[in-house]
Amino acid sequence: MDIAHSLPTQAKAISFSFLSSRDIKNISVKQITNPILLDNLNMPTTGGLYDPALGPADRADVCATCHLSSYQCPGHFGHIELPVPVFHPLFMNQAFGLLRSVCMFCHQFKMPELVLKKYVARLQLLDHGLLAESQIVANMTPKTRSTGGARDDAEDGEDAVPVETVEQFSARIDKAVKKFIDESMMADEGVADVGTSDRKPNLQRTQPSGRDNYKDGLVYAERRDLLHEFGRKAYMKCSHCNAAAFTYRKEGTVKIIEYGLSKKHQDQNMALGRKRPNVLAMSKQSSRVKK
Ligand SMILES: [Zn+2]
Ligand SMILES: [Zn+2]
Repeated sequence: MDIAHSLPTQAKAISFSFLSSRDIKNISVKQITNPILLDNLNMPTTGGLYDPALGPADRADVCATCHLSSYQCPGHFGHIELPVPVFHPLFMNQAFGLLRSVCMFCHQFKMPELVLKKYVARLQLLDHGLLAESQIVANMTPKTRSTGGARDDAEDGEDAVPVETVEQFSARIDKAVKKFIDESMMADEGVADVGTSDRKPNLQRTQPSGRDNYKDGLVYAERRDLLHEFGRKAYMKCSHCNAAAFTYRKEGTVKIIEYGLSKKHQDQNMALGRKRPNVLAMSKQSSRVKK
């Protein structure tokens, strides 16, 4: 998007996100490379944080980028290239939660597939503002065989299958999510566009009447709690490859420390044939291939 020339449109909904490195470079007028702010005469240095390209430093100055006075210049963004990747301090908790929930050997989420499935389904529903439906999915459990009688011949209907496999249960969750979302879209827009593959988050769903306004806050709180809960539980073993998992400690918003595995766990992983892939070498290799 060209942010200098916005299109006159009517906003239906807004969302906030962070600028990517490319966005930052696009809006930046100058790369900041000079750690010294002012020279011997107390004048801003070029390439420093007070570089004239970012806006006039003094009332009498003229902006080097837009040539306006200090009253009219809106100020301009610069950027600093970091030599190594660093954690975004605002995302530290999310990064830490994700790191703890991913297996370092097979790079899948360590939690059992169905637990993950429920999180994904509930977040999808909450994106559409469907709070009660999210609770319904949370309470769904795989069907169990009733102790009453043997029902070996009850294979004709899906509901009649006495014990659900992981695939069947997961398909049932998918079906429920699709039904809830389709129903809510149908209620919103008459019958149009139902069943199209690109479903957009519809957070303004509860907005019109005013009576349902309180739901937005509840959906937000539920979403936040769900995401918070997601990274909280530390699985000591990966449910996909069975490898013993690393443990981590976070130091403020600066560092994440990974503890080594105990001898016993190392031996277990060795016996399972789990080897940790060298991701740094892999990313270097793939970037070389791209070039
Ligand atoms: Zn300016
Ligand atoms: Zn694994």
